[in-house]
Amino acid sequence: MKPPPFGYHAPRTLGEALDALAATPGGKVLAGGQSLIPLLNMRLAAPPALVDVNRVAELDALHVGDQGVRIGALARHARVERSAEAAAVQPLLGRALRHVAHPVIRNRGTVVGSLAHADPAAEMPAVLAVLGGTVEAASVRGRRTIAAEAFFLGPLESALEPGELAVSAFFPAAPPRTGSAFAETARRHGDYALSGVAAVVGLDEDLRVASVRAGFLGIAPVPLVLDLTGAAGSRGDWAAAAAHVRERIDPEPDIHAGAAYRRHLTGVLAERALNAAAAEALRRAE
Ligand code: FAD
Repeated sequence: MKPPPFGYHAPRTLGEALDALAATPGGKVLAGGQSLIPLLNMRLAAPPALVDVNRVAELDALHVGDQGVRIGALARHARVERSAEAAAVQPLLGRALRHVAHPVIRNRGTVVGSLAHADPAAEMPAVLAVLGGTVEAASVRGRRTIAAEAFFLGPLESALEPGELAVSAFFPAAPPRTGSAFAETARRHGDYALSGVAAVVGLDEDLRVASVRAGFLGIAPVPLVLDLTGAAGSRGDWAAAAAHVRERIDPEPDIHAGAAYRRHLTGVLAERALNAAAAEALRRAE
């Protein structure tokens, strides 16, 4: 199918991009186009104009520091996935990115675009949420930082306001004595997941379990984060934590899976991911 007619802007600086967004109410940012172009072609979206940011060099950034990884709006999934520096500071990024679609899509699609798109079945929103990351937004009115917990409002709905562009996203570094893991099930590799879990386990100095967090995708309208520290106990009872997850979630059925199956599957994935995260925390602590 062909898209409806739209205006097209190709700014070369962030300032020009923000001016173009301000000048075209209802205009959409075009990043990797891996979600937006299919929506246009299926005529599920008909914005009056696209602001193509692919020539804005300052957005093509990936900064890795002791505090975490800042991913610019034009950094493709594949670049972040392959970054050894990013993996050393926050290994959960690469682990989750391997599950995002197929390599050709990861070569074009952007991490920040995935966050802005706010698909509840997408991997990166759940990772940002479980790590307590942030999104930096800019418009002609100025800049602001939005915490992950306030960023995702509903399916395909983020806290970005009209005229705002997500400039970057910040994923905090993994603290010492923590481990992380990612697990998901999709009907075919590369499909959106039926359910998925990003798990983070922290140990204290005596190697007892001190913190347990899990971020879930595909089971709620926005990424769901659960604190499972109490449920797992200081010895890390992952079966008990998984049972707690099954009690707390309320997944919707769809054409791919019923609610009961999704609930069961999510518990299985949670137990698996928590086990793996705890094993990594132990390795890093010893
Ligand atoms: P675009 O398609 O360019 O934009 C998507 C939306 O976000 C648009 O509304 C756009 O205006 C907005 N946007 C983009 N960047 C910004 C910005 N900087 N500021 C403000 N708004 C912005 N994704 C997954 O997570 N998991 C999957 O399993 C998965 N499977 C896929 C399978 C297929 C066959 C396809 C085609 C895509 C799949 N995707 C999947 C989507 C892919 O990851 C996209 O890359 C991602 O969702 C959006 O990134 P993008 O850069 O392509 O954004």
